[in-house]
Amino acid sequence: MEPKFITDVNVGKLGKWLRLMGYDTLFFDEQDDGLMVKAAIAQGRIILTKDSEFMKRRAISTGRVKAVLVGSDRPDQQLSTVINTLELTKEYRPFTRCLKCNSMLISRSKHEVEGSVPERVYEKQEQYMQCPSCRRIYWKGTHWQAMSGKLSRLASAQQEKKGEDL
Ligand SMILES: [Zn+2]
Repeated sequence: MEPKFITDVNVGKLGKWLRLMGYDTLFFDEQDDGLMVKAAIAQGRIILTKDSEFMKRRAISTGRVKAVLVGSDRPDQQLSTVINTLELTKEYRPFTRCLKCNSMLISRSKHEVEGSVPERVYEKQEQYMQCPSCRRIYWKGTHWQAMSGKLSRLASAQQEKKGEDL
């Protein structure tokens, strides 16, 4: 089964990267860690946090809830820790999930988005995705390309690492 995540307030950017990879990710933004544990158990989510004290909680030490401690302050290194720890590379489907609200995106044809995207975009782009919840439209612009490049570099770094382990 594809892993689902819940990110602690201290690793929000990491959560965005995971959504970008297509993973179901909830951003937890309250102070009460207990509620985060409850949500993780109820929804079968893996907790991602930078808080090492949090890792000492009973629900985690007993394995009732799975959690990954990300040590770095840099979101790309945090992502790489998550990819390595959970061996995620094979499953990811980039740009299938809304970065704002976590919903699965729906593919839209060019004529369906006419008038809803800037003209300069409409002229150049053929493929679009739309969020059914917030109606946000995504296309493969320069931002998308930069992100894909970064993701595939992280994924291939993981494969090289695996190669050494064999
Ligand atoms: Zn959305």
